Amino acid sequence: MSEFDLIRRYFTWEDPPSELRISVGDDAAVLSMAANEELIISVDTSVSGVHFPIDTPAHAIGYKSLATNLSDLAAMGATPRWFTLALTLPEKNEAWLSEFARGLRELADSAAIFLIGGDTTRGPLSITIQVMGSAPKGTALLRSGAQVGDLIAVSGYLGEAAAGLAVLQQGLKLNTLANDQHCLQRLNYPTPRLALGEWLRVRAHSCMDISDGLLADLNHLLTRSQVGAELYHQNLSYSPALQALSLDQQLSYMLTGGDDYELLFTIPPILKPELLAYGQANDLNISIIGIITETAGELVLDYPLNNLTNGYNHF
Ligand code: ADP
Ligand code: MG
Repeated sequence: MSEFDLIRRYFTWEDPPSELRISVGDDAAVLSMAANEELIISVDTSVSGVHFPIDTPAHAIGYKSLATNLSDLAAMGATPRWFTLALTLPEKNEAWLSEFARGLRELADSAAIFLIGGDTTRGPLSITIQVMGSAPKGTALLRSGAQVGDLIAVSGYLGEAAAGLAVLQQGLKLNTLANDQHCLQRLNYPTPRLALGEWLRVRAHSCMDISDGLLADLNHLLTRSQVGAELYHQNLSYSPALQALSLDQQLSYMLTGGDDYELLFTIPPILKPELLAYGQANDLNISIIGIITETAGELVLDYPLNNLTNGYNHF
């Protein structure tokens, strides 16, 4: 299989969206945008053995490489539109490639994002995806907008992916095999919270996605917004899959584990009922875990940080 065949077979998609004048096959893609839209762009590289374990199934690698990028678009409140894929492959393994492409396509179709080009080279396995999204001018969500008195909220159950990595690499055993599997699934197939991000676009004061652990990422948001935060650990949503672990262990994964790809955002208190109703209507766990305070950069947690050592430490 030549490189040309490979690109045509796996990465030349049919039915391009109408605004896409030129897609895969030319020297560059050509597309047009509406005048009232802004383009929102992010790029991330996943390296085998660094960002995912070497033996991760190809389907999961395809899915997750796109998912982590889509999570950045979700964090900005962007609508996914197009992406490029720069693939470095150690060999032309058709079985691997078709599984990779299937995982990639599965998520791309469900998120309505279209592959418009890329690059294919030989070398140690590495996947670079650049996503492009759009939002009406001036409406993108930022890390810098948090205001004193805002409620701090997160989506989903934090800590499951970090526990999944511990199951894989540290022999962690949860109380049931099903819970082990669930956490591994959350590690390999994170869910970019795209609909929530778009819903928050006209509502949240600030937003980001959690990839390096809640505490570390919240610190970035506080710095950008020049505010502080108080967190109440009992307000977090505790994953049923982790319930057999000690509270210290659960909170270690939840607060400092990586790979959650949930949204962390702040809203004015008046929107609390609407937010909770949104979560219920969409079967999405939303927890209000704290409040934004005045002291710039100060993060107060009502639980001793020294206890958070049993879990996987991302740093
Ligand atoms: P060039 O040498 O001009 O960069 P390439 O041979 O790298 O051309 O790419 C040919 C076409 O295939 C381009 O349109 C490029 O965007 C596309 N392409 C190459 N690799 C990929 C890939 N992994 N996924 C999607 N499109 C790709
Ligand atoms: Mg090229």
